[in-house]
Amino acid sequence: MKPARFDYYSPDSPNEALELLGQYGDDAKILAGGQSLMPMMNMRLVRPKVVIDINRIAGLSHISPRPDGGLAVGAMTRQRELERSALVLETAPLLSLAIPYIGHFQIRNRGTVGGSLAHSDPAAEIPAVCLTLDTEFELASSAGERTVKAEDFFLNHLTTALEPAELLTQIRIPQTVGNWRWGFQEVCRRDGDFALVGAATMLRLDDRGICLESRITAFGAGGTPMRMNAAENHLSGSSVNADDRSEAARLVSDALDPISDIHASAKYRQDVAGVMVRRALEQALLPMEGEDAA
Ligand SMILES: Cc1cc2nc3c(=O)[nH]c(=O)nc-3n(C[C@H](O)[C@H](O)[C@H](O)COP(=O)(O)OP(=O)(O)OC[C@H]3O[C@@H](n4cnc5c(N)ncnc54)[C@H](O)[C@@H]3O)c2cc1C
Repeated sequence: MKPARFDYYSPDSPNEALELLGQYGDDAKILAGGQSLMPMMNMRLVRPKVVIDINRIAGLSHISPRPDGGLAVGAMTRQRELERSALVLETAPLLSLAIPYIGHFQIRNRGTVGGSLAHSDPAAEIPAVCLTLDTEFELASSAGERTVKAEDFFLNHLTTALEPAELLTQIRIPQTVGNWRWGFQEVCRRDGDFALVGAATMLRLDDRGICLESRITAFGAGGTPMRMNAAENHLSGSSVNADDRSEAARLVSDALDPISDIHASAKYRQDVAGVMVRRALEQALLPMEGEDAA
């Protein structure tokens, strides 16, 4: 199918894009990598009157170190650039681990970090990782700028805190290396498909292996990626042994209330989310380079 008629703009500057967004609001859609927008337009699931292509705007694509040790990533940064970035691997290794699960490399060559976040598919990897990493989102409109935390950004299925006249310009990812460990697991029917369900975990351990802080996110099991607070609390202060990990998995399954669809039943998603969490925790505890296996 072909999309419904639309007017096309290709601004050179963020200000020009913001003016257009302010002018057209709900009638406009930003075009980033086009990997979600174009299929949706072709299937006529969305019919924007105006498409604002932000690919020509300089300065929206970058991966930069921040003075606090974290990362700033421009919204138009391609997913493939993140996947290949040594700086991302050093600073936010969970993101490097998760990106290859997105579709196929052809999709990641075009798809952007901002597009994935703004589209906010509940089974998408980047939103789940950003929630786990306590990422902040910089949003701009012609009225000014604001910062939204990941926990406040994902509102519901394909719905975020972005207002119609707002552009996601950059994300800020805190540094998570040192005594942090990470794991990422998902299950899908075929390589490159969207996840049926998945989990991202971060553990901050002391020298004796006691968990100082844990973060667990389930995705594909509700309208948004979700932090699993009961399981996180259970692990904090523990040695994250096999019993602790099983209990965390049980708490996650108990907390979820997913839907059934043609891809998987609710019960499957609920049970497998727990398994994904357990495996992601096991992965996080694997010896890192230079460490002795216990
Ligand atoms: C075959 C296939 C398989 C895929 N598999 C996966 C997968 O396994 N996991 C996964 O996560 N994704 C998958 N995707 C989707 C892919 O990751 C997309 O790249 C991503 O969802 C959207 O990014 P984009 O840059 O292409 O955005 P676009 O498609 O250009 O835009 C998506 C939406 O976000 C809005 N938008 C984009 N950028 C901004 C911005 N800066 N500010 C405000 N709004 C903005 C657009 O208006 C639109 O509504 C797949 C896509 C395809 C075609």
